[in-house]
Amino acid sequence: MLETYSVDYYSVDIGRIEADLYELAKFGYNEVDKGIYRPGLTEIDMAARQWLMAKFRACGLATSMDGVGNVIGRLGASDRAAVVIGSHLDSVPCGGMFDGSLGVLVGLECLRVIQEQNIELRYPIEVIATSEEEGRFGGMLGAQALAGDLKPDWLESARDIDGEFLKDALAKFNMSTHTALHSRRTPESIHAFVELHIEQGPVLEMEQKAIGVVEGISGIFKWLVKLIGKADHAGTSPMHMRSDAFMGLASFANEIYRIIEEEGTDKSRLTIGRVELKPGNPHTIPGEVDFSLVGRDLDEAVLEQLANACRKALSAIAVVID
Ligand SMILES: [Zn+2]
Repeated sequence: MLETYSVDYYSVDIGRIEADLYELAKFGYNEVDKGIYRPGLTEIDMAARQWLMAKFRACGLATSMDGVGNVIGRLGASDRAAVVIGSHLDSVPCGGMFDGSLGVLVGLECLRVIQEQNIELRYPIEVIATSEEEGRFGGMLGAQALAGDLKPDWLESARDIDGEFLKDALAKFNMSTHTALHSRRTPESIHAFVELHIEQGPVLEMEQKAIGVVEGISGIFKWLVKLIGKADHAGTSPMHMRSDAFMGLASFANEIYRIIEEEGTDKSRLTIGRVELKPGNPHTIPGEVDFSLVGRDLDEAVLEQLANACRKALSAIAVVID
């Protein structure tokens, strides 16, 4: 059933939001590259969460942390479905100060204004700062926990890039697979979820628009590709007698724009973000190259087409190199 509302407009205090953003950015700020390093379930991430909880308490919100580290501040009746405002508090390595943080702190500012203006709430409002959303352990832990989308097997086996188990990271903060599974929220307890998020790309700025609405989140495939050639001396091996693994990568990279044009859409992305040449010596022909390939699109069928085209291009190149 559609409900109709009369709309009143209130102003938020931009200065207050700005001050909060700078305070939060201190958790994990790196002087050298000016980025934020606040990976999920680390000491610094947890310190930021404690800071936020103190802020919530200072505003008189019912404040809690669930069994995966999601921080929740709630205003209004405890027995009704809530309108939830939130985003993530963790960051990718060298993240920006608005990423995630903005969606949480703007929610907090809304609740401050609601209280100051004595606005009567039709629904209780919660601000949630989700936990480990940036994929240190390969998932979106906080949101998955809320949605009841966590699998015990995954919780037990997931590891970060340094080999640390998710379950061990949880244990450091008195949480576990068990508490994670119990952080599920019932669909009845949430009326709506609103997230304000900084745009990750250059499009709005280029089109001089202040805000846009998300149409979807792209699906993804992530491959680690290995091309094997033959390592040889860079001086004594004639150019026509080489099996240079890097040249295979270069040929494939050159195909990327063609693949997108033929198989993709304007929403398609193919990215080689990491490359390792072996042995990795300036005077040796690379005998092996390992690289990451990430494909993205909003449409699963298109994603599949992109993956197939990449597979085809790679096998053609691999045969040539043989
Ligand atoms: Zn984000």
